[in-house]
Amino acid sequence: MRDLIVSDIHANWEALEAVLARAAGSYDRIVCCGDLIGYGPDPNRVLDWARSNLAYVVRGNHDKAAVGLENLEWFNPVARAAALWTLHELTPENLEYAKELPKGPLPIDNYQIAHGSPLDEDEYVVCENDADQAFAYLDRDVTFFGHTHVQGGFALAVRRIRELEGPAHGSREATLDFDPDTAYLINPGSIGQPRDRDPRAAWALYDAESRSVTYYREPYDIETAQAKIRRAGLPDMLAHRLAVGQ
Ligand code: ZN
Repeated sequence: MRDLIVSDIHANWEALEAVLARAAGSYDRIVCCGDLIGYGPDPNRVLDWARSNLAYVVRGNHDKAAVGLENLEWFNPVARAAALWTLHELTPENLEYAKELPKGPLPIDNYQIAHGSPLDEDEYVVCENDADQAFAYLDRDVTFFGHTHVQGGFALAVRRIRELEGPAHGSREATLDFDPDTAYLINPGSIGQPRDRDPRAAWALYDAESRSVTYYREPYDIETAQAKIRRAGLPDMLAHRLAVGQ
């Protein structure tokens, strides 16, 4: 079974479309680590797609915020404005779907997915210390997570943690073969709003048979996504950051 692992799409249809075109034929199922919506200009298009294409998904903090399940006082003004705009846009079917998204972690076969930390869906796993705490409580060898919008993750072998990275800026993919006796926290990166200084859409492919993960990056039509954000009246910063991947 080959699972396409995506996360943090954030209603960016152009980025999602480019990823699906590049990944066509390479996977059996699509699995999402949350934040389908929020920030971007196409929440209904992305949720329509999600409803018929995702095999497994967990909710993200922006999914919760956009449907009123999160206290918006915790959000910065830009994220809050985007959440309120999204709630106003959603069709009744998509609002219902987003409200019902399950909380992570969610077990799938021999791995699991979470939005933030497997211990707390809203917590960011950013550094080795964060990963160390999470590893202490993992009951599976492989966990995929999102939330930070940074492709890579962490590997833990005999009590030693090392940080993982996606492909370098000049290349489009990088494969990581899993070692035995090692646990992995893998971040596929963000489709719709990368924050690791690489503006290309990010995702990963997990091959359960060969026990490997391939990280991918794909350029997409950022200008169109930016124009839609501006036309929707969303904060300009949300358009600007797409071009710099930050
Ligand atoms: Zn996110």
